[in-house]
Amino acid sequence: MSTIATILQDEISTATLQKGLYAIAACTLIGAAAYAGYKAAEPEAKHLPSHRHPESNEQIEKVLELLRLDDEDKLRIIMQSLEREMELGLSPATHPTADVKMFATYVRSTADGSETGQVLALDLGGTNFRVLLVDLLPQSKVELTSKIFVIPQSIMLGEGSYLFRHLADCLMEFMNKENLNKPGVRYPLGFTFSFPCKQEGLASARLSTWTKGFTCSGVVNEDVVKMLQAAIDEKNINVQCVALVNDTVGTLMACAYKDPNTEIGLILGTGTNACYMEKLDRVGTWDGDYNDPKQVIINMEWGAFGNNHRLNHIRTKYDEEVDLSSVNPGKQIFEKMISGMYMGEIVRLIMLDLIHQNLLFIGKCNGSEDFKTPLFTRGGFYTKYVSSVEMDEGIGFSNTRRVLEDIGIRNPSYDDCAIVQHICKIVSKRAARLAGAGLAVLINRINKPNVTVGVDGSLYRYHPRFKRNMEKCMQNLVSKNIKFLLQLSNDGSGIGAALTVAAAEALSNQEKSKRSYPLSDDGSGKGAGLIAVVASRYLQQLSQSTSTLHNHNNEKVPTQFQKHLSTLQSPM
Ligand code: ADP
Ligand code: MG
Repeated sequence: MSTIATILQDEISTATLQKGLYAIAACTLIGAAAYAGYKAAEPEAKHLPSHRHPESNEQIEKVLELLRLDDEDKLRIIMQSLEREMELGLSPATHPTADVKMFATYVRSTADGSETGQVLALDLGGTNFRVLLVDLLPQSKVELTSKIFVIPQSIMLGEGSYLFRHLADCLMEFMNKENLNKPGVRYPLGFTFSFPCKQEGLASARLSTWTKGFTCSGVVNEDVVKMLQAAIDEKNINVQCVALVNDTVGTLMACAYKDPNTEIGLILGTGTNACYMEKLDRVGTWDGDYNDPKQVIINMEWGAFGNNHRLNHIRTKYDEEVDLSSVNPGKQIFEKMISGMYMGEIVRLIMLDLIHQNLLFIGKCNGSEDFKTPLFTRGGFYTKYVSSVEMDEGIGFSNTRRVLEDIGIRNPSYDDCAIVQHICKIVSKRAARLAGAGLAVLINRINKPNVTVGVDGSLYRYHPRFKRNMEKCMQNLVSKNIKFLLQLSNDGSGIGAALTVAAAEALSNQEKSKRSYPLSDDGSGKGAGLIAVVASRYLQQLSQSTSTLHNHNNEKVPTQFQKHLSTLQSPM
């Protein structure tokens, strides 16, 4: 009031005074509203001052400290270690025992955007199984029709033959729905199979080991293309599997279709893995020809980095617990610190630890009923919750509240929400920095002025700051003379299989005109020649149904078949 008195003494007009009073009243109202809003957002803050107590914060920070990877030197050590593991995988003497397998894929060139035609693809990723019809149109345009099918847990853990029969059933259902059942037409198929395989040809690959929760019996060491084809033939589906690709390779292919600087494919979904274009003279295990292009895509299977304890110095008790309760303990250590299948579970275990230390959800989980909630159930905190929680900005925490209600925490306090978000941020940031460090190794090794990385997977796609966190750490780890670009590859893992089929066909056509990609001397189906051989075998198989195909209305035949018909005349 003294201010007002002073104003009066200064003989300021009544109008000005009124304005001033209105302003004060307005400020008070806004202030009151803001306070009410804050209170609504923080309903129990005044009852729970303990979290704000510096000691508690310190205790929480102590628990989380081990998960921080802010120290760049730590990342550089991990990079050196990964590169050493890569060399072990690439060298024939050490490859059999190496963790990071560095499988040569026999894919030696990327699709260049000129491929056209209709190709079917199957994408078995770990969580999702999709059947796709990919229409490659002129000027790198792609049209896609796809359907997601569920792989029941009983099939994931059952007999291998049931898995492939299930895939064939889904394929048949999709083809019937899309009217892809023209008599006499044998449709080509690319198979994106995202598990570690020793590839023996473009359409031949033996499974090394299952990952990501699959344990189907009778598949390890078997040719998965043969198993798929047997299931397809058993059901008389007129489809020929022409190429098997890893999802990383599919992603690289799909991204290169639009951006020729693409040299790396990265997956951040159920699991994590990367592939890149490597110079042939660095691939000691290479047993194909050394003709141009002197390069081959290497499927790293980097998820297995750390299996030989190389990452022990950064692993926490939560990582160990996640590993021990998985279906493949001791395996895929890098993957278990990064990917979607495990991230939510790491967050859940940290929450349980904080509850145990009376630092989180104080007084909220005491009843015996509470222990039946998702919070206390393995896998009860999904990785999509991590994205959702981290999307909250400000003090409202509306997503976080919803998530916490979902896992059985009623009326979480402001502090509860803030702590849970803090945990999510630290766990996802660690994952992003580990993946970023891995990419930096590849980009520095490729050492070209511009390197694009094609990325696919729901973790990368939906997490609000995964990309930003990766880029931030990569800026310091990638050589200064290299510009890199992380490019989301929409449906890359599925489209890529179709592109590989198309590229193989284009290659076989080039082969006929003797322009490039000569066949390997032994004709045994290695390297680029191998792609052509496999494609040509496929053409020969196709030729058995040619007469029907010729007699059939040609307009209805998919484009690539017409292309084959024109090239079938001259033997390779
Ligand atoms: P796949 O690995 O089978 O090819 P995706 O790339 O779609 O399939 O990855 C699926 C995994 O991604 C899920 O298991 C889950 O862990 C994770 N995920 C799904 N939705 C989200 C999301 N919104 N945010 C973060 N991760 C997610
Ligand atoms: Mg996928």
